[in-house]
Amino acid sequence: MTMRRTITILGATGSIGTSTLDLVERDPEAFEIVALTAQRDVAGLAAAARRTRARLAVIGDETLIAPLREALAGSDVEAAAGADAIAEAAALGADWTMAAIVGTAGLRPTMAALGHGRTVALANKESLVSAGALMTEAARQAGATLLPVDSEHNAVFQCFPHHDVSQVKRVILTASGGPFRTMPRDEMARVTPAQAVKHPNWSMGAKISVDSATLMNKGLELIEAHHLFPVGADRFAVIVHPQSVVHSMVEYVDGSVLAQMGTPDMRTPIAHTLAWPKRMGTPCAPLDLAEVGRLDFEEPDLGRFPALGLAMAALAAGGARPAVLNAANEVAVAAFLDGRIGFLDIVLIVEKVLERYDPAPPASIDEALAIDAEARAVARTATELQTA
Ligand code: NDP
Ligand code: MG
Repeated sequence: MTMRRTITILGATGSIGTSTLDLVERDPEAFEIVALTAQRDVAGLAAAARRTRARLAVIGDETLIAPLREALAGSDVEAAAGADAIAEAAALGADWTMAAIVGTAGLRPTMAALGHGRTVALANKESLVSAGALMTEAARQAGATLLPVDSEHNAVFQCFPHHDVSQVKRVILTASGGPFRTMPRDEMARVTPAQAVKHPNWSMGAKISVDSATLMNKGLELIEAHHLFPVGADRFAVIVHPQSVVHSMVEYVDGSVLAQMGTPDMRTPIAHTLAWPKRMGTPCAPLDLAEVGRLDFEEPDLGRFPALGLAMAALAAGGARPAVLNAANEVAVAAFLDGRIGFLDIVLIVEKVLERYDPAPPASIDEALAIDAEARAVARTATELQTA
């Protein structure tokens, strides 16, 4: 009998978390669940923990510990609550951890998982954008394996010459262009949260869906790629590809371009990280290129999508610029989803925060979190001024 692998899923109730559970639950003999975490979704968390016979279920919102205990009554699942309890669950050291909390809220738990030197599948791009240098160094020191889940980075990982980065001329990230790819900018001023979260190709959580609509997501992904694939900040490019079939490419010095393709279903990259270095079967629809018919590519329009330009500038400047950009964006996207600001205000707020707050690069995770908190405070003030 082969040993069961122990698994923890941070953000188990989200889009990536439930896709991960879907794969894991198809093979209950292979995996043993250590911990599942969520922020407020007690019912979703408790149901998943019961189904998978998890050892531990953690809810981030401390006020929800009583309902969680109630929902788990009669099961063997232990309950805990609070942000510290999530980080402690991550530190239990499962063989494989899915980091799928949204936002820099995922930074401490992801760092705790990396500290164990096991495998961390990383979906939580915001933590890498915010503290990428610290995170990749911590992974190296602990001997942890960091596997990218984000479809573009997972694609690059599969095409990348890990043994010799000097073979790489460019890393080319594809972007679907989001739901407003062809929309004139004056119309964008009136788009609603419901329109912005309706992505043409991918089904995702609300925050990343809005990021895909502004193209900030592609900007965050450029920064993410620069931390994962050390070829120099000037070697990354973005190309818009509306069909989302080519998930990204690596261009070599000899002119060869390797691409990874597939249907747009996050279970493929998740499965890649779950089975790596092997492969496993998935329920994903096979890619039928004849049915797709054609693959289109176009340059991104930085005039209509200025968020991408802001992120490119933050990547080039380095230091704490990406962390400030990311924190401001999280606050502005939350305000847009709440109906407090318009769609085009998101990038205006990020721009204002970058103008007003320019701290030195963080030397520790505590410093990174302090920069994140201060940038959020500046962003909240900018948001209030925007709504006044
Ligand atoms: P969702 O919003 O669907 O899920 C987020 C998860 O994080 C939920 O389990 C949520 O719990 C939990 N959570 C939310 N806030 C906190 C907090 N403050 N502390 C702890 N846990 C929290 O997001 P997605 O699954 O779409 O995205 C997760 C991450 O993966 C993001 O960083 C995103 O950018 C990245 N990603 C997502 C892709 C996708 O296809 N969805 C593709 C590539 C990357 P609760 O349900 O209780 O609120
Ligand atoms: Mg992506």
